[in-house]
Amino acid sequence: MDLFEYQARDLFAKHDVPVLAGEVIDTPAAAREVAERLGGRAVVKAQVKTGGRGKAGGVKLASDPEDAVAKADAILGMDIKGHTVRQVMLAQTADIAEEYYVSFLLDRTNRTFLAMASVEGGMDIEEVAATKPEALAKIPVDSIEGVTPAKAAEIVAAARFPAAVADQVADVLQRLWKVFVAEDALLVEVNPLVKTGDGQIIALDGKVSLDANAEFRQPDHAALEDKGAANPLEAAAKAKGLNYVKLEGGSVGIIGNGAGLVMSTLDVVAYAGEAHGGVTPANFLDIGGGASAEVMANGLEIILGDPDVTSVFVNVFGGITACDAVANGIVQALQLLTSRGEEVTKPLVVRLDGNNAELGRKILTDADHPLVEQVDTMDGAAQRAAELAAK
Ligand code: GDP
Ligand code: MN
Repeated sequence: MDLFEYQARDLFAKHDVPVLAGEVIDTPAAAREVAERLGGRAVVKAQVKTGGRGKAGGVKLASDPEDAVAKADAILGMDIKGHTVRQVMLAQTADIAEEYYVSFLLDRTNRTFLAMASVEGGMDIEEVAATKPEALAKIPVDSIEGVTPAKAAEIVAAARFPAAVADQVADVLQRLWKVFVAEDALLVEVNPLVKTGDGQIIALDGKVSLDANAEFRQPDHAALEDKGAANPLEAAAKAKGLNYVKLEGGSVGIIGNGAGLVMSTLDVVAYAGEAHGGVTPANFLDIGGGASAEVMANGLEIILGDPDVTSVFVNVFGGITACDAVANGIVQALQLLTSRGEEVTKPLVVRLDGNNAELGRKILTDADHPLVEQVDTMDGAAQRAAELAAK
């Protein structure tokens, strides 16, 4: 999960990385009071999850509270590389003498962590990295040892930081490493890390990406999620503990049990869809092992709630969960949805195989729901679902 700059700034502050005071607002009018609190002058910064805001006009200096309102008005609503600016951060201005670059990241290729640092930071760091690779120091960081004082000194020396700031930068690097470890980050980047006119080192911009696999031990991180940006169906599925993924351009909704089966179902449907004008999956949902009627109902509700879906393929291979339980789940799910006032109008193609398949099929046959069709093989069911989707 990528964070907004202000969220990265908050995490920096939590781990004693020097930052400047700032506040986030979403209306131009609110800028006046915040700018007054910050002492009149302020830098107004677009909060979007993409780099290059400065070059796009998303970072502007305001000379007084009135000007802060005008600058916030200009930046809010701006489009930066396809991201609409809904919030701006007003921050204390820095008197910048020098701009540096520092980051920590996971280096998958070399199976280690990596520190990168340059004394040529600022808005053109990408160009520096491309044209003057020697100006960007890259130092591996051992996951167990981490950034010790010696490692920090090594990074500072490799990047040739001026002697006057060497100790301060080394100290900030150790604090940023604490952020990286304590918050389970995959990336912590500061560009620019600045030296101010009076010799202070301050993190003026922050980019942090958190490891979603560590969510279970980071209860505070859920609050950092950008609820406005999440696909509403994905959010609803997540709230119900279901694994739902939206796909672009398709029309067949897919429900299966187990990641492997679901993945191969996607392939089989896309293949079958070629004969029907290029029908592809619209989404998929893995109901996992214990597919109770409620799980099935929740899953169907989400799949049917996707307006792109014109047919649904339920592909279940009974294992620990027997097919009769799944069949009962489907029957009860359709009743549950009807009783919730949701009109089910999209056809369902069901393929049941494995444990208790015959009993499961009989349950669906007896229920005789007009929208439910059974096909015994995965290929056949995929073809039927694609055909129905194309209608
Ligand atoms: P980015 O372009 O998305 O990386 O946004 P940054 O937060 O890095 O800001 C871009 C540039 O704006 C920085 O490299 C600075 O040169 C400048 N900037 C940001 N904050 C201040 C500030 O408080 N004072 C001054 N003078 N410049 C700032
Ligand atoms: Mn930056």
